[in-house]
Amino acid sequence: MELLDGKLVSRAIIDALTLQVAQLKTEGKKIPHLAAVLVGNNGASETYVGAKVKTCAEIGFKSSLVRLEETITENRLLNLIEELNNDVDIDGILVQLPLPKHISDEKVINAIHPSKDVDGFHPVNVGKMVQGLPAYVPATPHGIMLMLEHYKIDTKGMNAVVVGRSNIVGRPMSILLSGNTNPGNCTVTICHSHTRHLEEICRNADIIVAALGKPEFVTASMVKPGAIVIDVGITRVPDASKKSGFALKGDVKFDEVAPLCSYITPVPGGVGPMTIAALMKNTYAACAERNGN
Ligand code: NDP
Repeated sequence: MELLDGKLVSRAIIDALTLQVAQLKTEGKKIPHLAAVLVGNNGASETYVGAKVKTCAEIGFKSSLVRLEETITENRLLNLIEELNNDVDIDGILVQLPLPKHISDEKVINAIHPSKDVDGFHPVNVGKMVQGLPAYVPATPHGIMLMLEHYKIDTKGMNAVVVGRSNIVGRPMSILLSGNTNPGNCTVTICHSHTRHLEEICRNADIIVAALGKPEFVTASMVKPGAIVIDVGITRVPDASKKSGFALKGDVKFDEVAPLCSYITPVPGGVGPMTIAALMKNTYAACAERNGN
């Protein structure tokens, strides 16, 4: 079994971007600028946005964190997105999800200009991705593809099973794995809460991507010996032994599944850091695209 080390691979990507930014500075060119919008004070969202802003600083990107009250109206948020769209210095906009219930995720995502949609959630980018055209691809599945590429895993012809069909992870993951690309060229099954015989489907998989948000859902009896297991899940579970009061759990029962696998991602330290690295790559690309760098 080999660990797919997201910390290590993301470090390589971040180091390469840091060099590229230093080069931009030397040449007097525009530095990528990411605007992150955080509504309310959800603990997990704070952590994710904080990590993104910190990584921007480390690479040398500019970042702006726009913090908004939980009670902000949908209209005010849409106006703010419009201001960010019109701000020529800003290359990428991300709105941390989930948003409060009174605000439509869909309306907000659709308001972001596709050229600044570094999360890759806008229908224009989704459509381009589906057609295999250059597009901003959602950071988590993009990060997973970068990790498979880094480890030179030849996925051609493999049976891939993606558990979860969200617009953020599962569905784009299934599209990328089924693409005529390398990595890619898999035969993909996408599963959800109505899927029948999930255990059996998983047992047939050469690659399982677990993205359902149910801690330790994937057990040894669901995994074929030699399979590749990608654990996207991050759930905070109470843990009195931790200073924070919680531990992060993946969707895979790591201890019993890992010995069976050819490759597996740990939680934490697997998909999480790759998500941030992929977002940074998207932001760099948005700046390059907009400024002809
Ligand atoms: P969602 O809640 O949006 O989607 C979960 C999906 O899992 C749904 O499609 C749901 O099916 C499906 N599902 C739920 N229960 C079952 C079940 N028993 N059997 C089969 N399918 C099931 O979650 P996200 O996609 O946003 O996130 C998934 C997990 O990944 C979460 O733990 C999240 O925290 C984590 N995450 C991690 C990231 C990282 O960087 N590592 C980034 C983004 C997310 P249905 O559609 O029928 O409801």
